[in-house]
Amino acid sequence: MAKRDINTELGFSSKILSTDKNHPDVHGAMNTPIYRSAAFEFPDSKSIADAFQNKEAIASHTYSRITNPTVEALENKIKAVSGAKDVMMLSSGMAAISNTFMALSYAGSNIVTSPHLFGNTFAFFQYTLAEFGVEVRFVNTDNVAEIDAAIDENTCAFFCEVMTNPHLEIADLVAIKKILTKHHVPLVVDSTVIPWGGFDAGKWGVDIEVVSTTKYVSGGATSLGGAILDYGSFDWSHNKRLQKVASPAPYSAFMFKIKREIARNFGACMDPDSAYSQSMGMETLKVRYEAVSSSAFALATFLESQSKVAKVGYPKLESFPYKALSDQFFTGNPGAMLTFNLASREECFAFLDQLKLIRRATNLFDNRTLIIHPESTIYGSFTQEMKEVMGIDPTLIRLSVGLEEVEDLKADIEQALQAVQA
Ligand SMILES: *Cc1c(COP(=O)(O)O)cnc(C)c1O
Repeated sequence: MAKRDINTELGFSSKILSTDKNHPDVHGAMNTPIYRSAAFEFPDSKSIADAFQNKEAIASHTYSRITNPTVEALENKIKAVSGAKDVMMLSSGMAAISNTFMALSYAGSNIVTSPHLFGNTFAFFQYTLAEFGVEVRFVNTDNVAEIDAAIDENTCAFFCEVMTNPHLEIADLVAIKKILTKHHVPLVVDSTVIPWGGFDAGKWGVDIEVVSTTKYVSGGATSLGGAILDYGSFDWSHNKRLQKVASPAPYSAFMFKIKREIARNFGACMDPDSAYSQSMGMETLKVRYEAVSSSAFALATFLESQSKVAKVGYPKLESFPYKALSDQFFTGNPGAMLTFNLASREECFAFLDQLKLIRRATNLFDNRTLIIHPESTIYGSFTQEMKEVMGIDPTLIRLSVGLEEVEDLKADIEQALQAVQA
């Protein structure tokens, strides 16, 4: 396949819309077609042997669990706009997170992170990895000294979500990066809630970025997916497990381990149908993101004016405790997710039941506006004690704003609030 030749002067959407040009299809198809084939054939034994040993000058595809042309087309789009050195797509956001930590951690190692995490990420660290001898050390990410104190020679990563869900906390990545550099610890972030274009991970010292592409990228909740992005900025000879792989190539050892071992052995590959849907999603990502972010800000402002609403969380609001960090790290209006509190859990339930346009569903960043009461759903199976550790408030509602006209959304919220007992 031809080498990528993206004009770095192009804008975000232009880059995405032109990556396929560098990988011409045999029939001239403008969208890389869905290569729904498990295996790929070679003309002779030498070329298939070379392909298996990665000896050919231009990488070719052998088997779709390892690489696939449609999946690669999506990876190229993400690479073009993120500036990452290497990108790998997997079957879901959790596959991206679990594969990342299966490559980084080892028995006796520890991960320093906030307890305010996406529920399955929390459970993966706290329960799954714990059984393999990996320790998770929860810290308050607002307190850099606490992060500094938690790190030791077996810390394999510091991990955080760029904005936590549903608390909407933003860690000071600049201050944290300084500590991590001192200890030679990589910065691994989940930026699902603020996609490329809104958050430039490479600029803020992120070494590894993981994203659930199920959310913004899929474009209408069409498919599951996850991305691992490596910015090529970390010297992996500092990781005890990656040391050996790192000796010939210190900055690419992580992706080498992921692509040649971890992802192949776990087999959570992205299927070409999902990759196709998500390539289409990438093409409209910027316009969708701008539209939903501007509606979210308008709705947050509207909700703040409502007497039955106790509190509203949206990073652009003056009242928001992390507004300065949001303005520093995120460009434009910061995404479609907002939260608000009513007086009680019962009031939240009554409000949700009155909604006519807004849909009661989990998931984020569908084209439709989605609403959920996190404490009784996403966090419903955790004990009260765990809910407290995870900072889950029973009066909080999470809204993920979609592409409906904002006046229609306001009207729906207004009529549902009116029906709730004051
Ligand atoms: C949804 C989500 C995930 C998990 O992604 P899946 O694609 O559902 O596996 C991880 N992190 C965050 C912040 C998410 O919102």
